Amino acid sequence: MKIVNTIQEVRDQVKEWRRQGLSVGLVPTMGYLHEGHKSLIDRAVEQNDRVVVSVFVNPMQFGPGEDLESYPRDMDRDAALCEKAGAHLIFHPEPSEMYQKDFSSYVDMNTLTGGLCGKSRPVHFRGVCTVVSKLFHIVTPDRAYFGQKDAQQLAVISHMVSDLNFGIEIVGCPIVREEDGLAKSSRNTYLNPEERKAATVLNRSLEEAQELFLAGESRAEVLKERICQILEAEPLARIDYVELVDWQSLEPVEEINGCVLMAIAVFIGKTRLIDNRIIEK
Ligand code: AMP
Repeated sequence: MKIVNTIQEVRDQVKEWRRQGLSVGLVPTMGYLHEGHKSLIDRAVEQNDRVVVSVFVNPMQFGPGEDLESYPRDMDRDAALCEKAGAHLIFHPEPSEMYQKDFSSYVDMNTLTGGLCGKSRPVHFRGVCTVVSKLFHIVTPDRAYFGQKDAQQLAVISHMVSDLNFGIEIVGCPIVREEDGLAKSSRNTYLNPEERKAATVLNRSLEEAQELFLAGESRAEVLKERICQILEAEPLARIDYVELVDWQSLEPVEEINGCVLMAIAVFIGKTRLIDNRIIEK
């Protein structure tokens, strides 16, 4: 496995693979990799001859006052995980390699980004769409892998690829959780032991709503109320949002009909965590 820092090195490597007729999968990440990322790399290794993992903490998708500087980084550990999982190339650029001084072109989206995380993080999806577009142009993969953990991101990227004819297959992968149900996230490292315990409330609230739904409740308001009740009972938790939206349009629903995304963002202490479940009728 190679680790490269420049766009040119990626292009040269992919060109060589293409000359050999090999297919290429891309797993975009911000590093500090865990089992969730590994599940994406595993799937990419299964489905492609060669796999590129990008490790880039993208400044453009962080708003002022967010955790860009403190975001955890450990390239040696990331490299070991990628190597073990069978990836072939890590692309680990500096911000200056991705954004030249006079950078001024952006990819943005009018639908899908107004609610959920887009509402709390106004510049986030413009940053995500722009960096993912750049990675797609640099790597030119056949397939790219995204986790359902970031459900809105998965929906946004799928829509962008269709709108802009990238010709890349977007593969969505299920959420990988800790044993106690907490969705794995690089940001879980911010939690102290007390907060780490409290953080299980996210999954628990969604699980209870899902059970209520399976028992026959189909009013979104009632399911939402149940989630809020459980979250509010945890003293260390502060709700950012709790939403039930159509999984296609990401617009709020009143009744569960078709595929509905139950999505939540919750501060545990100072750490903002997200989680979700898709329910279907
Ligand atoms: P990140 O490094 O947090 O930007 O995540 C990179 C990719 O890994 C994104 O597509 C995430 O949705 C995905 N991912 C992160 N955590 C998980 C998880 N617990 N389960 C599945 N995929 C995940």
